[in-house]
Amino acid sequence: MHELSIVMGIVRIAEAEARKSGYDAIDEIELEIGELAGVEMEAFDFAWNQAKRGTMLDKAEKIVHRPEGIARCLGCGQTFRMNNLYDACTCCGSCFSDIVQGREFKVKSITV
Ligand SMILES: [Zn+2]
Repeated sequence: MHELSIVMGIVRIAEAEARKSGYDAIDEIELEIGELAGVEMEAFDFAWNQAKRGTMLDKAEKIVHRPEGIARCLGCGQTFRMNNLYDACTCCGSCFSDIVQGREFKVKSITV
């Protein structure tokens, strides 16, 4: 389950950040996970609850922002809503597009 390794990575980053500032607990963590980031949210939440135990994030509130997928077609230049990675252009049907938004995956902020 790759969600677990993702969560472990986040926990490590958050703990390192908090420690740098001299804190030993985190109150709130804000994440940005785009709709096209390839993260299964149900699995992510499950992994989160497993991985945070005994860490600084144990009692932290988790806030997740989910930017929607948006792509620009390389064929006709149209910007369109992409629900799944590699969706074809809704305008001309081309499969070649640049993803403008939705692949974000980052820790936006932590509150200690
Ligand atoms: Zn197009």
